[in-house]
Amino acid sequence: MTHAVDVDVVVIGGGRAGLATGYYLRRQNLDFVILDARPAPGGAWQHTWDSLHLFSPAAYSSLPGRLMPAQDGAEYPDTRHVVQYLTAYEERYALPVQRPVRVKGVHRDGERLRVETDAGVWSGCGWRRAGARRGRAGSPRLRRGAGSGPGRRGIACPAARSTGRGRRE
Ligand SMILES: Cc1cc2nc3c(=O)[nH]c(=O)nc-3n(C[C@H](O)[C@H](O)[C@H](O)COP(=O)(O)OP(=O)(O)OC[C@H]3O[C@@H](n4cnc5c(N)ncnc54)[C@H](O)[C@@H]3O)c2cc1C
Repeated sequence: MTHAVDVDVVVIGGGRAGLATGYYLRRQNLDFVILDARPAPGGAWQHTWDSLHLFSPAAYSSLPGRLMPAQDGAEYPDTRHVVQYLTAYEERYALPVQRPVRVKGVHRDGERLRVETDAGVWSGCGWRRAGARRGRAGSPRLRRGAGSGPGRRGIACPAARSTGRGRRE
């Protein structure tokens, strides 16, 4: 069996939802990884029309902790601006995003969950699929028992350990 990298939580998807999840996991000093199938930051915004603009002003499109700056000359920021913001957000909070890593399956392994990918195996007490958009990258297959009960959402390990990493606000 392939050796697994142990963490507290595995977040699947490094788009907006995954980054926001990472922000809160970081605040709790949990050891986690964000696995993202795309080769670069931005999630779905990497692959959309150049002419697309947010339908909300920047300030209403912010992730926790950091306001999206206004874009010069545009009340509704464009795709490039959104990708720049998400890239900077990842860096600011030193979010541990691994790319490109495509999750193929999640299944229970005793009290932990094994997350199988095309780049190795991660093991966590909890996992979270982050991102609800069309599955261009494909949704991971959930093995029997992995999609419900402990670990489905949040942290379920009795002793989710603290990494002692410095908190970055
Ligand atoms: C035309 C259009 C316009 C929109 N306009 C707005 C707007 O103005 N404002 C707004 O707030 N929202 C808008 N949205 C919604 C937009 O989808 C979200 O803002 C945002 O991109 C959703 O973020 P997310 O993290 O949920 O998903 P995504 O951005 O899709 O990120 C999911 C990530 O998960 C990864 N992933 C998927 N499967 C796997 C796997 N098996 N293994 C590893 N990684 C995986 C993907 O590669 C991706 O990077 C718009 C959407 C569309 C289609």
